[in-house]
Amino acid sequence: MSDTSSSTATANIGVVGLAVMGSNLARNLASREGNTVAVYNRSPERTDLLTSEHPEAEFVASKTIEEFVASLQKPRTAIIMVQAGKGTDAVISQLSDLFEEGDIIVDGGNALFTDTIRREKAARERGLNFVGAGISGGEEGALNGPSIMPGGSAEAYETLGPILASIAAVAEGEPCVTHVGTDGAGHFVKMIHNGIEYADMQLIAEAYDLIRRGTGYSPAQIADVFAEWNTGELESYLIEITAEVLRQVDAETGRPLVDVILDQAGSKGTGVWTVQTALDLGIPVSGIAEAVFARALSSKPAQRAASSSLPGPSETVAVDDPAAFIEDVRKALYASKIIAYSQGFDAIVAGAEHYGWDIKKGEIAKIWRGGCIIRARFLNRITEAYAENPGLVALVTAPYFTEAIAGTQDAWRRVVVSAVQAGIPTPAFSSSLAYYDGLRADRLPASIVQGQRDFFGAHTYKRIDKEGTFHTLWSGDRTEIESEGSSH
Ligand code: NAP
Repeated sequence: MSDTSSSTATANIGVVGLAVMGSNLARNLASREGNTVAVYNRSPERTDLLTSEHPEAEFVASKTIEEFVASLQKPRTAIIMVQAGKGTDAVISQLSDLFEEGDIIVDGGNALFTDTIRREKAARERGLNFVGAGISGGEEGALNGPSIMPGGSAEAYETLGPILASIAAVAEGEPCVTHVGTDGAGHFVKMIHNGIEYADMQLIAEAYDLIRRGTGYSPAQIADVFAEWNTGELESYLIEITAEVLRQVDAETGRPLVDVILDQAGSKGTGVWTVQTALDLGIPVSGIAEAVFARALSSKPAQRAASSSLPGPSETVAVDDPAAFIEDVRKALYASKIIAYSQGFDAIVAGAEHYGWDIKKGEIAKIWRGGCIIRARFLNRITEAYAENPGLVALVTAPYFTEAIAGTQDAWRRVVVSAVQAGIPTPAFSSSLAYYDGLRADRLPASIVQGQRDFFGAHTYKRIDKEGTFHTLWSGDRTEIESEGSSH
């Protein structure tokens, strides 16, 4: 570390990385009372562009990282918004050499939470604060108010919290930011947020597909259905923008844009991270996993082309009453969405336990109410559920959600049956229902699995009627013996 303190230190916050996210975040910061914002980008052209296009922001711009650091008041606080991975490590390394004890480095990019844990530890060993902050809301959110999920130390949050609160989205009078937990907790929760987003998007896409095939409605008509849904319990940003997408007409062909867009979904990796992490933690996030796999399947044109003549039904649902069918699909969507969130919160609970984070689940639902992609009316119900019972074992068992599913499950089952009979793929609807039935099952066929495991691998089993661990002598006289080890 070198002494870079200077009498020219005028900025209370800095942003490194001025591509779309960093520029918008810097403008957002500059627009809030009391902030003077220092900016720096590796290539000076971006800095020049930002400062010339936005003189009103009165940025303190620097051409070198040394100048940038010198322009920050102590404790120096810099938000990094650069390409995740190598870019982030490069900037952290530069800042770490120049920052001094107590200064704060914030990574606002989409980092993998285990990288954040590693970076926080390294920074702490140098006396620096490192905060991994998940930021959701895309470019628009960065500019006008994102949902922010910061991790790191409580000490760093004391300085950083008010600054983040000043730029975050506001939902029902409260800023959408909270100190999620130490080290990687913020990026962990942002990752789960994105996983839920994958599930939510896939469920909405399946609902659209079913309505289109079942009723023959045009995309514009389905846009009206979604706009109507957006006035009720499904009210959410994703439902709102789906209606907008469905209404869009392609200028070139005059066709609905949705019919012109190639049906191969891309992804940037946070959905995969969610599923990989959940697998490691042993948490069934099947709705999220199916959504990730659905994107993967869509992006396999050769396999799809080779399989298009495989036998199956005609892919139309026999619908006598379109309004009733649409209402069934709405209910199926709501029920499946509850499952996706329930699974996501299960993963948060498991992650918090595994990594030692004190994550307030109700607070997480609160900060997702505004700014972020999964913002939705029903998040208030999640906050209430955890307020009533912080130790809730599964979100879906909270009275509100149990009642919601009681009122929707008949429709949910009808929709899944219709889809299966018609040969319409609904992986997220179907897997959510299978998960729900798995949860409520009195007995699962896992006893067969345990028997098989004991048969071929002497893995042992437990009994329902007495304590202990047992093994049957399958290749001997098939008597049961008590085993010393524990069942696994
Ligand atoms: P980006 O395209 O991910 O990254 C471009 C920026 O990174 C440029 O400023 C670039 O500088 C800088 N950079 C790359 N490698 C660097 C290095 N080795 N040293 C210094 N700077 C380096 O930008 P973005 O789309 O604005 O996203 C920024 C971060 O926010 C990413 O982590 C992204 O995942 C996250 N994020 C994005 C969104 C979104 O909607 N786009 C939403 C949430 C979070 P040069 O100009 O010099 O090349």
